Amino acid sequence: MNAGRVLTEAGVDTDELRVLIHPIQPEQVWLRSATPLMMRFWGSGIQAMTVRRWIFVDPGLLNGDRAKLSLLIIHELVHVRQWSDLGVLGFLSSYLGSYLRGRRKGLNHRDSYRAIDLEVEAREIQARFR
Ligand SMILES: [Zn+2]
Repeated sequence: MNAGRVLTEAGVDTDELRVLIHPIQPEQVWLRSATPLMMRFWGSGIQAMTVRRWIFVDPGLLNGDRAKLSLLIIHELVHVRQWSDLGVLGFLSSYLGSYLRGRRKGLNHRDSYRAIDLEVEAREIQARFR
């Protein structure tokens, strides 16, 4: 399934969203069920992980409520755009660097994760569609 279909089914495929994730086309972003092994390494509360144009989603969510899934997909599409803007090394160094700066400031794992610049942006854009 592609991300565009989820947005259309949930009625959230808007011009505003298209501008915010430009130049990413949601129809060219693929959703896959996360494997049990993958999810074992996710922290609690993590429901999806984006790697370039692939979004791995907790299978329970992938087959569940479309409105809830579409909000998650909006968040992940921002990450797809960030991967595209920054490139693989740029994305990973920004993401990890931001996390480690939080840890050095004394934040715990969860707070450091939430303070990652790329996560802050994804949450802010996601919140506009609630
Ligand atoms: Zn995120």
